[in-house]
Amino acid sequence: VTSAAPFDWRDVHLTQHIQGALGVKVFVDNDANISALGESWFGAGMGVPNFVLYSIGLGTGAGVIIDGMLYRGDADVVAEIGHVTIDRNGERCLCGNIGCLEMYAEFSQMLRRVPGGGAGPVPSGQELVERIRTVFRDAAAGDPAAREVLAEQGRILGIGAVTLANIFSPELIIVSGNDIGDLDLSPLIAEMQECVRQRAFSVASDTVRVVPSQLGRDITLYGGVSLVLQDFFAGTED
Ligand SMILES: [Zn+2]
Repeated sequence: VTSAAPFDWRDVHLTQHIQGALGVKVFVDNDANISALGESWFGAGMGVPNFVLYSIGLGTGAGVIIDGMLYRGDADVVAEIGHVTIDRNGERCLCGNIGCLEMYAEFSQMLRRVPGGGAGPVPSGQELVERIRTVFRDAAAGDPAAREVLAEQGRILGIGAVTLANIFSPELIIVSGNDIGDLDLSPLIAEMQECVRQRAFSVASDTVRVVPSQLGRDITLYGGVSLVLQDFFAGTED
């Protein structure tokens, strides 16, 4: 792990540490990458050669499958969509960049747009998850303010979806909110699909479908299994 901003890690040899402690072969990868692999092997991406897994929730990331394979780029840092600048005069992000998408798109920031919820510190832990769930519940019950909060959240996340569509020309953008559990993401997905339709380059806007993950909160579990399977079938196990 070269860096992991939330933990302030630099050059941590995680695989060796865990492998040394457990005495079995260990695989380490980021959650968006293994989520994409999980969808490719077991979920909405089965049989789909080109798709992007768009991970939303308490963080914002993406994993990219090209021609059936996880795309890793040159330095294993790919599709960091949460750290694309959307406001070059914005505040500084944990990653060191300015005005990153994640600073507006993560669900804790969404709570600031709930009427009456703007001031004061953003909650953490279980309270944070509960307040996010309340917004989704209120919206599903027809509360207009909660529905507008979700619609705006969908439009912000839509910036990322349009960017991913324009860069990768995927068949699907599969949306996962794994770190929030089993929320019904359909209000967000409808907005993201509309953003892609309106704003993506015309070829992509007509063809890219935005769909929910089929693996729910178990997506990273399936992803871990997929990582091992991929290694096994590639014949690189030792
Ligand atoms: Zn950032």
